[in-house]
Amino acid sequence: MPQAPIQYNNIQNDDDDNYDNNNKKALKYIEDVTSKADEIQERVIEEILKSSAHVEYLERHGLNGRTDRDTFKEVIPVVNYEDLKPEIDRIANGDSSPILCSKPISEFLTSSGTSGGERKLMPTIEEELGRRTLLYSLLMPVMDQFVPNLHEGKGMYFLFIKSETKTPGGLVARPVLTSYYKSSHFNNNNSSHKNPHKNYTSPNETILCLDSFQSMYSQLLSGLLQSHQVLRVGAVFASGFIRAIKFLEKFWADLCRDIRTGTIDPKISDTSVREAVMRIMKRPNPKLASCIEGECMKGSWKGIITRLWPNTKYVDVIVTGTMAQYIPILDYYSNGLPLVCTMYASSECYFGINLNPLCDPEKVSYTLIPTMAYFEFLPLNKMNGGNGHSNNSNNQLVKEDLVDLVDVELGQEYELVVTTYAGLYRYRVGDILRVAGFKNKAPQFNFVCRKNVVLSIDSDKTDEVELQNAVKSGANHLKQFGATVTEYTSCVDTSTIPGHYVLFWEINTHTKQTLNTDKNISSSVFKECCHAVEESLNSVYRQGRVSESIGPLEIKIVENGTFDKLMDFALSQGASINQYKTPRCVKYAPIVELLNSKVVCSYFSEKCPKWVPGHKRWCNNNFE
Ligand code: AMP
Repeated sequence: MPQAPIQYNNIQNDDDDNYDNNNKKALKYIEDVTSKADEIQERVIEEILKSSAHVEYLERHGLNGRTDRDTFKEVIPVVNYEDLKPEIDRIANGDSSPILCSKPISEFLTSSGTSGGERKLMPTIEEELGRRTLLYSLLMPVMDQFVPNLHEGKGMYFLFIKSETKTPGGLVARPVLTSYYKSSHFNNNNSSHKNPHKNYTSPNETILCLDSFQSMYSQLLSGLLQSHQVLRVGAVFASGFIRAIKFLEKFWADLCRDIRTGTIDPKISDTSVREAVMRIMKRPNPKLASCIEGECMKGSWKGIITRLWPNTKYVDVIVTGTMAQYIPILDYYSNGLPLVCTMYASSECYFGINLNPLCDPEKVSYTLIPTMAYFEFLPLNKMNGGNGHSNNSNNQLVKEDLVDLVDVELGQEYELVVTTYAGLYRYRVGDILRVAGFKNKAPQFNFVCRKNVVLSIDSDKTDEVELQNAVKSGANHLKQFGATVTEYTSCVDTSTIPGHYVLFWEINTHTKQTLNTDKNISSSVFKECCHAVEESLNSVYRQGRVSESIGPLEIKIVENGTFDKLMDFALSQGASINQYKTPRCVKYAPIVELLNSKVVCSYFSEKCPKWVPGHKRWCNNNFE
């Protein structure tokens, strides 16, 4: 039996430029690797262990150069980020000895998951870019089976980079997509000549512009100028796409003026961006400007996507996980075009793709591509009480409970555990997945949720502990008035765009009078509470606030006794009184309604929290 290809260059770097052939090769690759999923996984773990046989971490755990999966499973612990932090800190500080991986760590990818309020740092190596590119190269051949000939038009994708920083040891730290968009893998391919599927309306210069206003403006302008060629639109996550539409709502008049006059707004000061857009603009186009203006002036934005980009076949954005909250607004803007979730990936590694991209958003499942990493699964019922922290005795239990990729069971839920080429071994990603089916031998997973995350608007992921600490620091401002927060819960409100966090607080004033907060405590104090909560939230949240992808936090004060009513409601639904705990985040509509019906007054944060690129400790120059 011929071996299934494991290396990306089996389907990349093909210069025969034959569209159909390339598609066929990609689909064959998917067939091959999913049919031989276990065989491939065995080879992946062997390859990783062989290449990193003598790294400090594996030697410390007693692997002694062995590369078989049984020994690996026996001796290597299951870990989370906190367990690896000492090693990661050493690498960040400049220790270039082979600690986790024998190959040089090329950079750190800053995950939107946080540790101690700061983004997690994921080590990566040069060759991982090839693996990411491989996964991307499978997406359009899959899509082409359902919506053919997309290569004959363009994709209007809103893609952005974020600021990067350097660790004390000199390694670049930046988000995975910033790393990818700046790489030659993306730039060399981002033209219809090199790759018909990378025919985007946004010139590279507009994507690579760090100024988010200029980047968004110029990408929208480019998209509008080429509107009749656009066959698909999208962004990475739903929240990013909605932000673009909101931006259009605000700036369409300026954009139309530019199209009409054949010039670019002087606010776009980056010369390379101006030149790139001018290459598309060429000359004034008053007819197009009037068409766009006519649509934007109609008042309603229902169906604006199909009105301005009439040939659009689908909206390509992730709406699984917390992004599901944006499905109704996307349906509204797109007049019900298919919402397509193509892939599932992370800073740790890229995981899989959706082989049935036109399915309903609720039914999306991702087929893990067995060549990306070595995958293991921790059954949900066996997780350490779900707290995500390993200790020695628990770890023993966890180690034995892990199952391999091909051994997961239909309908069961698991936490994903990965071993990567870049030096993460049996690392708990923190995502909960449910087995929805199989493609040959490879399982397909619904994304269920992120473990412990209670609030999320954009790429922020706030867990219960972070929320608790932030509420505590906000509530401190009430102490001087003899008031305390006796109960709280939270939710996200996505009816505003951008969405925002809402906290419901029940307050006890020690004077025992009926709470009329407006009389007892001035509104400026509550606004300060809002600000203090935001200052205490993690850096991804604060960055989102500064870049306006998250709106100001709101505190709603509820009547005394509201949380008792919440408990009564839970008990009426069958909860046990012994086990009842106030939920720290509520999603169920009747509960949110109940809380909202008891609101006495509400306050918004009036200031942005502080955020600077990089780790807090690096900025203080005392990274240890
Ligand atoms: P980051 O580490 O910032 O790259 O974020 C990676 C995380 O984003 C994953 O572990 C998931 O929790 C989430 N994510 C990525 N892709 C998807 C998807 N297709 N559906 C739902 N969540 C996703």
